Amino acid sequence: MNLKNKNISVIGAVRSGVAAAKLIKKLEGIPFVSDMGDENELKEFIDQLRNENINFETGGHSEKVYNCEMMVVSPGVPFNAPVLVKAREAGIKLISEVELAYKYCKGNIIAITGTNGKTTTISLCGHVFNQSGYNTFVAGNIGLAFSEIALDVKERDFVALEVSSFQLDLIDQFKPKVAIILNITPDHLNRYDNKIDLYANAKQKIYKNQDSSDYLILNKDNGEVIKYLKEYKSNSFYFSLGEETENGCFRKNDEIHFNNKGKEEFSCNVSDIKIKGEHNIANVMAVICAAKIFHLENSNIIKALQTFKGVEHRLEFVREINGILFINDSKATNVNSVLYALKSFDEPIFLILGGQDKGNDYGEIKGLVLQGVKKIYAIGSSAEKVYNFFNSAIAVEIKKSLEDVISAAVKEASEGDVVLLSPACASFDMFDNFEHRGRVFKEAVNNM
Ligand code: ADP
Repeated sequence: MNLKNKNISVIGAVRSGVAAAKLIKKLEGIPFVSDMGDENELKEFIDQLRNENINFETGGHSEKVYNCEMMVVSPGVPFNAPVLVKAREAGIKLISEVELAYKYCKGNIIAITGTNGKTTTISLCGHVFNQSGYNTFVAGNIGLAFSEIALDVKERDFVALEVSSFQLDLIDQFKPKVAIILNITPDHLNRYDNKIDLYANAKQKIYKNQDSSDYLILNKDNGEVIKYLKEYKSNSFYFSLGEETENGCFRKNDEIHFNNKGKEEFSCNVSDIKIKGEHNIANVMAVICAAKIFHLENSNIIKALQTFKGVEHRLEFVREINGILFINDSKATNVNSVLYALKSFDEPIFLILGGQDKGNDYGEIKGLVLQGVKKIYAIGSSAEKVYNFFNSAIAVEIKKSLEDVISAAVKEASEGDVVLLSPACASFDMFDNFEHRGRVFKEAVNNM
């Protein structure tokens, strides 16, 4: 697509929107970035636009935004936002940032979608392919936006790409060599009229343009992934924690196996995986499928699994003090993530819960808490809610800060226990974001 001298509007002036605008400029198009938000809040990104001499507006969308041949939409902008509705009525072509970058990317794309685990899986995928000697880019919510790297990717290179359902809503020709659907559970439903089928169907678009030269990797254990599957032309592989499969990866006792048309091509021990939790074994199996599709050497894959330490703020090991393990899972901003965190440890747990509540129902984890948690430290604006829910069943103490929690925990926990920050809540009541919360936790632990 030749963008030379064409007016292209970009909706949303944060990371991927700014990256899209820069890409359009490099391709000699004329980008115009428009955002509803306040300029001060967008400062970091607006500065980049100024440095690049890219025109923009903040605080709302003016008529100028419709003076374009195409609109590129950032993932944060809802499908039914008035600006998009009006653009559609005016017959303007709308595409997502992923679609734009795709058009200019020559390499092999391994696209990964799912409700949970995308960041972990793209990071592991990047690690495995890089360790196997392939130049591999990791693009998504962490690291770089796809538009930032698209032109640097050579034909032989790989891109491990995170794609959200919002980005998939606005694809046109996006056709990844490999598409992975990790799982589908209710989340973000507010953007889909509270209908899981609309959300699940958006995820299915990841393979809609694939043909018989492409590959589709699916989670056999996830009912929603299978239920909403549409017709596809690609070659499918499955992964499962419990069920053997002719085509794909599965766990059997303490081993992981990969079959291709019934013939075993790879196996390793579960103990080769250093990241915690069953959910992470599922993520690893998805990556093994991708690695074997490209015939990566088994010894390289196993070496990469053994050296992958996980991603910051996701069940991240921080330090051991007097035999007590400190784990940072600040990314666990919903109850479901805490459920998986609790399942990941056999050791007794001191659990740090609370923050900005999202209408949490702690009933979902009560059983696991009673089974494995010795004590809860409740923090943040929902501390009282946490206290009231668990107090009759288990020891709960409200603490003002993470520093106070750590001082208490080193005294109260003993050798063999785990102190786990997995708060089930957003962080904005006390911190800038979940990363900030995780860093404060780690600092407090490291200062002990
Ligand atoms: P995403 O990028 O999709 O948000 P992350 O890798 O950042 O995914 O993980 C988000 C949270 O979900 C973490 O708390 C993590 O422990 C949990 N998680 C990771 N993989 C899975 C999975 N396969 N199923 C369920 N939860 C998972």
